[in-house]
Amino acid sequence: MKHKILVATTNPGKTKELSQMLAELAGQIEWLSLRDFPNAQEVEEDGATFAENAAKKALGYAKQTGLWTIADDSGLVIDTLNGLPGVFSARFAAEENEKLSRHEQDLKNNRKVLSLLKNIPQQQRAARFVCCMCLANPQEILIQTEGKIEGQIIDTPLGDNGFGYDPLFYVPSLGKTTAQLNSEHKNSISHRGQAVQQLKPLLKKLLQSS
Ligand code: IMP
Repeated sequence: MKHKILVATTNPGKTKELSQMLAELAGQIEWLSLRDFPNAQEVEEDGATFAENAAKKALGYAKQTGLWTIADDSGLVIDTLNGLPGVFSARFAAEENEKLSRHEQDLKNNRKVLSLLKNIPQQQRAARFVCCMCLANPQEILIQTEGKIEGQIIDTPLGDNGFGYDPLFYVPSLGKTTAQLNSEHKNSISHRGQAVQQLKPLLKKLLQSS
């Protein structure tokens, strides 16, 4: 019998991406998303760290649904800004109650980052994307992983792929921003991709023993 696992997102793209990255477990898992639980109460992401938010979401939705649940939290960490935007990455530049499209929000966030870095030289603009991923059952956290990708923030946006801060996030070893990578290449090196790759063998083991 397949093991039901809830992915704590309403974004079908995220569920698809995760099930594709874990395709070798397809025979053992039936993937569900929050779209299958329209009455679930939203779990607030008010933790101080990515790990706290991922754990809170995974446990919160696992308790509500009774299912094993995978949640993640990710964002951009800029050293010279003491780690900002960090857990505030998604709505870094948003006014309270401001309703903007995802694209408008991304543009506004990027403008804010560039204005905060205005007088900071390139060599002091080290940054990383971080993703914490968590699997919980209704009682406890079963797995926690963390992926990172190192880069630096550039002044001129480059590339049309990806989302969020991708056009400003330059990876020196590739000579490109993450917005200049196709999704397959990005997934193979990204913070999220790494968090999933770390999760895979641990989940495999859990499924074998459950
Ligand atoms: P979430 O936790 O995946 O929803 O990501 C929170 C926010 O972090 C997003 O809204 C983006 O602003 C930023 N972010 C996370 N991952 C990426 C990425 O791969 N590229 C660009 N921005 C990202």
